[in-house]
Amino acid sequence: MKILDDVVVNAKSVASEIGKKAGKAFDLSKLKFNAADLSGEINKKYKSLGKLVFLAKREGAENDLEIENVMNEIEQLQDDLDAVNEEILLIRNKRVCPVCKKENPSDALFCNACGAALSVPEEEAAEEAAEEVKEAAEEVCEKAEEAAKDAADEILGE
Ligand SMILES: [Zn+2]
Repeated sequence: MKILDDVVVNAKSVASEIGKKAGKAFDLSKLKFNAADLSGEINKKYKSLGKLVFLAKREGAENDLEIENVMNEIEQLQDDLDAVNEEILLIRNKRVCPVCKKENPSDALFCNACGAALSVPEEEAAEEAAEEVKEAAEEVCEKAEEAAKDAADEILGE
């Protein structure tokens, strides 16, 4: 049945759009979890750094190398955290300048810091996609209704 085939095809495309949006929300919560995890790690490192410095200053412990290592680890973790935070901003549709990496309002066309042109608004693209999903869903409903009517007519022998 042609109409039913169309309904199935449309339903599939709607499902894939919705899937993409759900995927985005999932990515965001995963990234937030990563960021919290990294912040926790950084705090732990600062704590052990404090202890090492205390031992060095108060008890004359020779732990310069250990202190240096912990500081390097903190820097590495901080870099990781910055990268995760940048991804979170991108997902939230803030416009990060491609040149200086400064965060700009989502309606800015040029970077507030360096004046570089900012890329096509992701938010608008997302809104367009949402509109398309709505239209497709309405179409699917209409076709499903038609198909149901056809089926009813067939059963009733018209
Ligand atoms: Zn910039």
